[in-house]
Amino acid sequence: MTTAPLELTDRARELLRAREVRVTQPRLRVLAELIGAAEALSHLEVQRRLEQAPAAEPIDRVTLYRVLEWLVDIDLAHRVSGPDRVFRYSARSGGHVLHGHFRCASCQRMFCLEEAPGMDRLIGAMLPAGFTGEQVELTVSGRCGHCAAAGAGGTA
Ligand SMILES: [Zn+2]
Ligand SMILES: [Zn+2]
Repeated sequence: MTTAPLELTDRARELLRAREVRVTQPRLRVLAELIGAAEALSHLEVQRRLEQAPAAEPIDRVTLYRVLEWLVDIDLAHRVSGPDRVFRYSARSGGHVLHGHFRCASCQRMFCLEEAPGMDRLIGAMLPAGFTGEQVELTVSGRCGHCAAAGAGGTA
Protein backbone atom coordinates (compact mmCIF):
# COMPACT_ATOMS: atom_id res chain seq x y z
CA MET A 1 0.00 0.00 0.00
CA THR A 2 1.23 3.47 -0.79
CA THR A 3 -0.18 6.56 0.83
CA ALA A 4 -0.10 8.59 -2.37
CA PRO A 5 -3.10 8.58 -4.69
CA LEU A 6 -2.78 6.21 -7.61
CA GLU A 7 -2.12 8.85 -10.25
CA LEU A 8 0.87 10.14 -8.29
CA THR A 9 2.26 6.62 -8.09
CA ASP A 10 1.71 6.21 -11.84
CA ARG A 11 3.45 9.49 -12.52
CA ALA A 12 6.37 8.46 -10.31
CA ARG A 13 6.60 5.11 -12.09
CA GLU A 14 6.69 6.85 -15.49
CA LEU A 15 9.47 9.17 -14.38
CA LEU A 16 11.56 6.30 -13.04
CA ARG A 17 11.02 4.22 -16.17
CA ALA A 18 11.98 7.15 -18.37
CA ARG A 19 15.33 7.18 -16.55
CA GLU A 20 15.68 3.44 -17.09
CA VAL A 21 16.32 2.82 -13.43
CA ARG A 22 14.96 0.03 -11.31
CA VAL A 23 11.50 0.75 -9.93
CA THR A 24 11.37 -0.31 -6.30
CA GLN A 25 8.61 0.25 -3.75
CA PRO A 26 10.58 2.74 -1.63
CA ARG A 27 11.62 4.73 -4.72
CA LEU A 28 8.05 4.79 -5.96
CA ARG A 29 6.56 5.74 -2.62
CA VAL A 30 9.04 8.51 -1.91
CA LEU A 31 8.90 10.05 -5.38
CA ALA A 32 5.07 9.93 -5.46
CA GLU A 33 4.97 11.68 -2.09
CA LEU A 34 7.31 14.43 -3.31
CA ILE A 35 5.30 14.90 -6.51
CA GLY A 36 2.10 15.29 -4.50
CA ALA A 37 3.51 17.80 -2.03
CA ALA A 38 2.89 21.53 -2.38
CA GLU A 39 6.12 22.35 -0.58
CA ALA A 40 9.62 20.93 -0.21
CA LEU A 41 9.67 18.21 2.45
CA SER A 42 12.28 17.26 4.99
CA HIS A 43 13.30 13.68 5.54
CA LEU A 44 11.08 13.54 8.61
CA GLU A 45 8.09 15.07 6.85
CA VAL A 46 8.36 12.52 4.03
CA GLN A 47 8.51 9.75 6.59
CA ARG A 48 5.47 11.04 8.48
CA ARG A 49 3.45 11.40 5.30
CA LEU A 50 4.39 7.94 4.07
CA GLU A 51 3.48 6.34 7.34
CA GLN A 52 0.33 8.25 8.20
CA ALA A 53 -2.07 6.09 6.15
CA PRO A 54 -3.57 3.26 8.22
CA ALA A 55 -2.31 0.42 6.03
CA ALA A 56 1.06 2.00 5.23
CA GLU A 57 4.19 0.02 5.90
CA PRO A 58 6.88 1.84 7.85
CA ILE A 59 9.86 3.00 5.85
CA ASP A 60 13.37 2.55 7.14
CA ARG A 61 15.07 5.90 7.83
CA VAL A 62 18.30 4.92 6.14
CA THR A 63 16.45 3.65 3.09
CA LEU A 64 14.46 6.85 2.96
CA TYR A 65 17.57 8.98 3.19
CA ARG A 66 19.28 6.98 0.45
CA VAL A 67 16.27 7.19 -1.85
CA LEU A 68 16.03 10.96 -1.37
CA GLU A 69 19.72 11.47 -2.15
CA TRP A 70 19.47 9.09 -5.09
CA LEU A 71 16.54 11.05 -6.53
CA VAL A 72 18.70 14.17 -6.32
CA ASP A 73 21.61 12.36 -8.01
CA ILE A 74 19.49 11.30 -10.97
CA ASP A 75 17.90 14.76 -11.08
CA LEU A 76 14.33 13.75 -10.35
CA ALA A 77 14.44 15.91 -7.25
CA HIS A 78 16.49 18.67 -5.75
CA ARG A 79 17.15 19.68 -2.21
CA VAL A 80 17.31 23.00 -0.49
CA SER A 81 18.42 23.81 3.01
CA GLY A 82 16.69 26.38 5.14
CA PRO A 83 18.00 28.57 7.94
CA ASP A 84 17.51 25.56 10.23
CA ARG A 85 20.06 23.70 8.03
CA VAL A 86 17.60 20.91 7.41
CA PHE A 87 17.49 19.67 3.84
CA ARG A 88 14.11 19.68 2.17
CA TYR A 89 13.40 17.81 -1.02
CA SER A 90 11.20 18.68 -3.94
CA ALA A 91 10.32 16.66 -7.02
CA ARG A 92 11.66 19.14 -9.47
CA SER A 93 14.90 18.71 -11.32
CA GLY A 94 17.52 20.98 -9.92
CA GLY A 95 20.08 21.91 -12.48
CA HIS A 96 18.46 23.61 -15.41
CA VAL A 97 16.46 26.70 -14.79
CA LEU A 98 17.19 28.76 -11.76
CA HIS A 99 14.40 29.03 -9.23
CA GLY A 100 14.28 30.54 -5.81
CA HIS A 101 12.56 29.38 -2.65
CA PHE A 102 10.14 30.86 -0.23
CA ARG A 103 10.34 30.18 3.45
CA CYS A 104 7.37 30.95 5.62
CA ALA A 105 8.54 32.50 8.86
CA SER A 106 5.32 31.46 10.52
CA CYS A 107 4.77 27.78 9.65
CA GLN A 108 8.43 27.18 8.58
CA ARG A 109 7.40 25.50 5.36
CA MET A 110 9.59 25.94 2.32
CA PHE A 111 8.19 26.28 -1.20
CA CYS A 112 9.82 26.20 -4.63
CA LEU A 113 9.13 29.40 -6.50
CA GLU A 114 8.38 29.65 -10.19
CA GLU A 115 11.32 29.52 -12.53
CA ALA A 116 12.56 32.94 -13.49
CA PRO A 117 14.34 32.82 -16.84
CA GLY A 118 15.80 36.32 -16.47
CA MET A 119 17.23 35.66 -13.03
CA ASP A 120 20.59 34.30 -14.18
CA ARG A 121 21.19 37.52 -16.12
CA LEU A 122 20.24 39.56 -13.08
CA ILE A 123 22.63 37.60 -10.86
CA GLY A 124 25.34 37.93 -13.51
CA ALA A 125 24.90 41.70 -13.38
CA MET A 126 25.59 41.62 -9.62
CA LEU A 127 28.90 39.77 -9.91
CA PRO A 128 32.17 41.70 -10.01
CA ALA A 129 34.13 41.54 -13.28
CA GLY A 130 35.92 38.24 -13.74
CA PHE A 131 33.75 36.33 -11.27
CA THR A 132 31.87 33.24 -12.35
CA GLY A 133 28.77 32.18 -10.48
CA GLU A 134 28.16 28.47 -10.26
CA GLN A 135 25.35 28.06 -7.84
CA VAL A 136 22.76 30.45 -6.52
CA GLU A 137 20.63 30.03 -3.47
CA LEU A 138 17.89 32.55 -3.33
CA THR A 139 15.41 32.37 -0.51
CA VAL A 140 12.63 34.83 0.11
CA SER A 141 11.14 34.78 3.58
CA GLY A 142 7.78 35.99 4.68
CA ARG A 143 4.38 34.47 5.19
CA CYS A 144 2.82 31.86 2.93
CA GLY A 145 -0.70 32.36 1.62
CA HIS A 146 -2.15 30.18 4.32
CA CYS A 147 -0.45 31.98 7.19
CA ALA A 148 -1.04 35.44 5.72
CA ALA A 149 -4.76 34.61 5.50
CA ALA A 150 -4.74 33.37 9.09
CA GLY A 151 -3.85 36.90 10.14
CA ALA A 152 -1.05 38.74 11.87
CA GLY A 153 0.68 37.00 14.75
CA GLY A 154 0.88 33.70 12.93
CA THR A 155 0.81 30.17 14.26
CA ALA A 156 4.49 29.78 15.15
ZN1 LIG B 1 3.06 29.56 6.44
ZN1 LIG C 1 13.10 24.20 -5.27
